[in-house]
Amino acid sequence: MSRAGIYIHIPFCRARCSYCDFATGAYEGALAERYVRAVAREVEAFARAAADEEVDTIYFGGGTPSLLTHAQVARVIASVRRRFRVAEGAEVTLEMNPGTVTRETLRGFRDAGINRASFGAQTFDERELKRLGRTHTADDTRRTLALLRETGFTNISFDLIAGLPEQTLGAWERNLDEALALRPEHLSLYLLEVHESTPLADQIRQGRYRRPDPDLAAEMYRVMVERTRRAGYEQYEISNFCLPGRESRHNLKYWTGAPYYGFGCSAHSFDGQALRWSNERDARAYVASVEEKGSAVVTRDELDARDRRAEALFLGLRLLSRGVNLSEHRARYHCDVRADFAEDLARFNEAGLITIDGDVLRLTPAGALLSNEVFAAFV
Ligand code: SF4
Repeated sequence: MSRAGIYIHIPFCRARCSYCDFATGAYEGALAERYVRAVAREVEAFARAAADEEVDTIYFGGGTPSLLTHAQVARVIASVRRRFRVAEGAEVTLEMNPGTVTRETLRGFRDAGINRASFGAQTFDERELKRLGRTHTADDTRRTLALLRETGFTNISFDLIAGLPEQTLGAWERNLDEALALRPEHLSLYLLEVHESTPLADQIRQGRYRRPDPDLAAEMYRVMVERTRRAGYEQYEISNFCLPGRESRHNLKYWTGAPYYGFGCSAHSFDGQALRWSNERDARAYVASVEEKGSAVVTRDELDARDRRAEALFLGLRLLSRGVNLSEHRARYHCDVRADFAEDLARFNEAGLITIDGDVLRLTPAGALLSNEVFAAFV
């Protein structure tokens, strides 16, 4: 039986961080209430899921979903349960920002069915937090983690970002050490990307900060792989690390080609075969569209056979420990990777970016750092 994931986008934040290019805006209570109603309506009007399909992950992302009340979160989950068959023990994640939750709100989220918390710590250095325009402090992060544990959350993920403006290798090491000492079940560790339309890009253009140094970023990545491994975390994806058995089941769907259905503005969906579609990006336009016709889909694409096999290859390679089984890939996509990409494979192998172990093609740690170069060869 095919198992799908549900993604719910909540596009509200307290303030906009300087590096952010997500579809999100300032929280307004009245708009949030209309938005939640629209999401529930969109979920219930959804017409595509196969009759035998079960949902085993629900993920509230954003934005800052923890700005919703637990009653609003419960209403959205109830709409998912009315429309889909939700598996026993489904993973239900809520992204939250440090400082936006109290003991009471966390209890409310748990009662609503949330069993996994993911939050953007980003850094434990107050100056770095300020530079990023974050509204929380490092103490908020520590307190939020303590409150999560106290209210019974046993599956917690943090995000940290490396390569922040003016960040030194030593500062990154201190961040990593503090995160690892807190023992979250899961860590997402990203290298900063500067998106051109963001205030951070303007600040760099104006000379306020230097552009991130790729050599320093590479060293930070190497340290992160080494320290997480020593602390008992498995690097199961290029940017994701977990204690044994604590992979993000929802995010695995994106990398393994499983179906996922997104609701809310800017949400993307994939039917697990070849169809992709996405929603209106603007929150108000999304609400208006759902209120009028029950849907806000603005793009639809059908992948051809070539796109599908290239995508399966580069998404599969992101999963560092699993890699891509070349026989299975050939049986499913009628493509002989060893023959079709013989020259590229030889070149990457010689450069130490990939290994082929029996039938399994994997990226090496060096290949994970240069993954875009490797993926480009397959697209
Ligand atoms: S909290 Fe997250 S989604 Fe909101 S502005 Fe900051 S980075 Fe963007």
